[in-house]
Amino acid sequence: MSVIDDVKQRLDVVQVVSEYVKLQKAGHNYKAACPFHSEKNPSFFVFPDKQSWHCFGACGTGGDIFSFIMKKEGVDFAQALRLLAGKAGVPLDTKVAPEKQAQNKEREKLYEINEAAAAYYHHILLNASEAAPARNYVAERGLSLETIKNFQLGFAPEGWETIKKYLKGKGYEEKQLLDAGLLVKRDDGSSYDRFRNRLIFPIRNGQGQAIGFGGRALDDSLPKYLNSPQTLIYDKSSSLYGIDRAKTAIRENDLAIITEGYMDVLTAHQYGYKNVVAFSGTSIVDKQIVISKILSRNLILALDADAAGEGAVSRSAEMLDKMLPVPPFYGWVKYEDAHKAEVKILILPQGKDLDDVIKDLIKEDSLKWQKLIADAKPMVDFIFQSSIAKLDTTSSRDKSIAVERLLPLLAEMKDPLRQAHYLERLAHLLKIDEHFLIDTLRKFRTTERRRRGTTSANSLAPVAVTVVSSSPLEQYCLALLLQYPELKSESTELSPEHFENTENRELFTKWYDCDDVSKLEDSLDNILKEHLNNLLCRAFPSIITDNESVRRATMEDCVIRLQERRLRNLESQMQELLAIEAEIGGAAAGLAKLEEQGLEITKQLQDVFIRQNHRRRQVKSDVQ
Ligand SMILES: [Zn+2]
Repeated sequence: MSVIDDVKQRLDVVQVVSEYVKLQKAGHNYKAACPFHSEKNPSFFVFPDKQSWHCFGACGTGGDIFSFIMKKEGVDFAQALRLLAGKAGVPLDTKVAPEKQAQNKEREKLYEINEAAAAYYHHILLNASEAAPARNYVAERGLSLETIKNFQLGFAPEGWETIKKYLKGKGYEEKQLLDAGLLVKRDDGSSYDRFRNRLIFPIRNGQGQAIGFGGRALDDSLPKYLNSPQTLIYDKSSSLYGIDRAKTAIRENDLAIITEGYMDVLTAHQYGYKNVVAFSGTSIVDKQIVISKILSRNLILALDADAAGEGAVSRSAEMLDKMLPVPPFYGWVKYEDAHKAEVKILILPQGKDLDDVIKDLIKEDSLKWQKLIADAKPMVDFIFQSSIAKLDTTSSRDKSIAVERLLPLLAEMKDPLRQAHYLERLAHLLKIDEHFLIDTLRKFRTTERRRRGTTSANSLAPVAVTVVSSSPLEQYCLALLLQYPELKSESTELSPEHFENTENRELFTKWYDCDDVSKLEDSLDNILKEHLNNLLCRAFPSIITDNESVRRATMEDCVIRLQERRLRNLESQMQELLAIEAEIGGAAAGLAKLEEQGLEITKQLQDVFIRQNHRRRQVKSDVQ
């Protein structure tokens, strides 16, 4: 859940507004004299069901808690977020502007230091006599000089103070070198080179800046691979080795292959498979997935079959556990479903890593690469396999463990055909009656619904607003605009008012002023950046991605629907108000139903848009 959603879920609009305005109960809702314009009769309303407010008087405007605070306190979105997050007790890691500025300077310095270190290590590898064993090693691994130069591989010599002396000689301070992670501090306060007698892999971000290093031991030293520690510019969990050189190919192939080893990346690129990157660290994490998702919605995780004494599947399952939000699998599949099931798993042949596989392929038949890629298994199949692999499916205990593990995943599948397919598979794997599974699934869903229902009904926690905060139509429209900026011409009729959620409204407003996504990102607060990235990752069906006219028509429909929604909302609010006046009230029951519908909306929207298009074209041709 994003910080924004978290804040929205913890705070109640009635509570927030009533700190500024004296609210009066009006049926199910609240009213007051508008705090933004002067008036005699109250036309400012707060709607707890929708967690929104609206002034039907001179302002004619409304929104959520964020827009209320922005307007009332006269602050921007980031400041409103900070204020409300403080109120809600949600921690934020955004720094205030001056600190940020100082930090930016510090970052720049660290990039500079890393560049200098990378160049130095590279020079040593190519020229120094003491680097001969390292040169032999890369030659044995079949790396060409071109690859070594392209990736700026290097060698860190044996000494304790080589890089330290070199960089100090260039004018850098010891503290800066420590901050860059190039030195390690001793207890007595002195320091020494972190990387010694190691082959050096500079790790770069998407913009090609050196953010850290991986060092491979050339003797029996442990660990075999040593990485830079976490620094201001290096976060292991959000970096992908080779991303700077792979991003174009990932976009062009519309596929990213993520592997475990740096060497795999080098070999793959050397042989022309340039859409390969590696995660640094022991497991791939969600952040890394998100980064590559920005470039392509199709991902293949290439996993070694044989790793450190553990069975392939169990190890990968463990890896999966780590990258999944709790409960295991649940969040992941939701994510996958939302993005049209495009994450696949490729288990490499026993005893081989990607590096070997590619070299074998070159000897045999390069078409085999395509075949290998085509053999990658969808994530869900993989989860099925790995969940059951360690279990004894003849024992009743293990059967129920398997059902318990996989049921939430099945319940989460929105496509009934897909669900039926996997129900059948599970029944077959466990040798149990499919009807029993269907029945269990139904029960599971009922309990889940009841569980969610009771949380919604709990008046102490204003959790019932999840539907509102996710606004699928707004996000669909924004994702489309952000991913296809040329659609701007279709969106001229949209105003910020069409976006009820402040985070969407903010993105829309900022994007409208500057439609260059990379510039837009720079202008955003971290939290909004995250929101932006989620929208940029959103996958569209091929009918949208491959066809410009469908895309334009879809955008037109989005605009119509947003306009329609706004009018309808206003209309219904008005009606509600009239009803209050007539002392009827009581429209709270629909919420649980809404929640269910909300999840379906995105899917239905797509159908509606395509249908509308069809109709419109038909209408056009009928007229002609
Ligand atoms: Zn007003």
